[in-house]
Amino acid sequence: VTDTTRFDESLATFPVFETQDERVRLRGSQCGRCGHVSFPARVICLECGGEHAPRLLSGRGVVYSVTTLANPPVGFDEGFPYLAVDLIEGPRVLAPGIPHAGLQRGSAVEAVPAAVRDGALGFRFEVVDA
Ligand SMILES: [Zn+2]
Repeated sequence: VTDTTRFDESLATFPVFETQDERVRLRGSQCGRCGHVSFPARVICLECGGEHAPRLLSGRGVVYSVTTLANPPVGFDEGFPYLAVDLIEGPRVLAPGIPHAGLQRGSAVEAVPAAVRDGALGFRFEVVDA
């Protein structure tokens, strides 16, 4: 039985996302000096040394690359696409994807709540149908 009501324990002490209306909002940050956006959130800017403030990110982006993990890590029950996604706010995020025939470099995707490691709630990227 899969329990999707609990969060991935590795994320529990410092969740990297929250959900609003069934959509995932990633907890990033933005520099008050140069505007650089980071995910996960940072305190000090890697670009200019300025201070970052928390900023919720859309979870939407474009696929930079796709690979399929034929031998998934412990806790994942099947092979799945693994994506590098360039968020519209800028940061590149590595995360599991949801299998889709049209999934490729350049696909528009959105982070959605999904069971991940050991069935705990996390997020995966899903192709946005035009
Ligand atoms: Zn900065």
